[in-house]
Amino acid sequence: MSLRVDNHVHTQHSGHSAPGADIRSMRQAAEAGGLTLSLREHAPLPEGYAFRQTAGPSREFPPVSKAVGLALDDGSLEAFLEEVRTAGVSLGFEVDILGGRLAETERLVAELHRRTEAAGVTIDALNCSHHAMHDSPWDFTPQTLHAAAEACGGPAWFARRYFGEMRKAVATGLFQSVSHIEAPLKFEAGSPSGPVGEVWQEEMARTLETLARHDVALEYNTGGLATWGRPYLSREHLALAVRLGLKLVVGSDAHDPDQVGRGFTEAEQVLRQAGVAEVWTFKAGRAVSIPIS
Ligand SMILES: [Zn+2]
Ligand SMILES: [Zn+2]
Repeated sequence: MSLRVDNHVHTQHSGHSAPGADIRSMRQAAEAGGLTLSLREHAPLPEGYAFRQTAGPSREFPPVSKAVGLALDDGSLEAFLEEVRTAGVSLGFEVDILGGRLAETERLVAELHRRTEAAGVTIDALNCSHHAMHDSPWDFTPQTLHAAAEACGGPAWFARRYFGEMRKAVATGLFQSVSHIEAPLKFEAGSPSGPVGEVWQEEMARTLETLARHDVALEYNTGGLATWGRPYLSREHLALAVRLGLKLVVGSDAHDPDQVGRGFTEAEQVLRQAGVAEVWTFKAGRAVSIPIS
């Protein structure tokens, strides 16, 4: 496996992982597939901040308490960091930008660096993730996404806001990589068409250009296979990323040992065909090349 590293792996601390997703099991699964892993656990929410439940809770609107497992104020972050330190695995976090609350995100990232340093662990990478519109996670179900789009004034406005918040976050310099950029399409059969499709294409192109300008990597997230039927980076946008010279980072978004390295064999082929000669991983925030051709 020349991709070598699965750069997006969760653990039982995610709040919504399979029961057997302890660090050792995840690492064993990676090794069995010829990979090493780099964790991207959901970062705790800032103190005093809570997600809002737009409806339910029900099957359509799962409890928002499951969105993030770690917290700053109950010792769970320290327990997680001690497990990471003992296991000696690469650590990163998926940091939700909380509907564009960048000042809070900046404070949270500073706090994360303080806590990890105190625990004797280094953060290899921070991924910029957008799972929440206003105060509510949109990515649980078609209903939660629909509610978020309605709150924005429709799917086109959702797209403008989603990408706009992402671009501002990328410009802060806090992040090494952007996660699953096409995840808002997860409940659709393909890419959007018509006027919404036009907005989507335009916003996507502007955002990839912003990544290029700030030298922030883009994630090729094979977790999309489970929901969208393809990785989160369609071939068309992969081609654009290659033209812009973006660094690509491959991750499975595994929440279960069975999902570690999912789709990596095909991912490698697709990336080669697209003209990608190297993918990237991070060590203490520094990009490290993994040649694949
Ligand atoms: Zn995510
Ligand atoms: Zn994830």
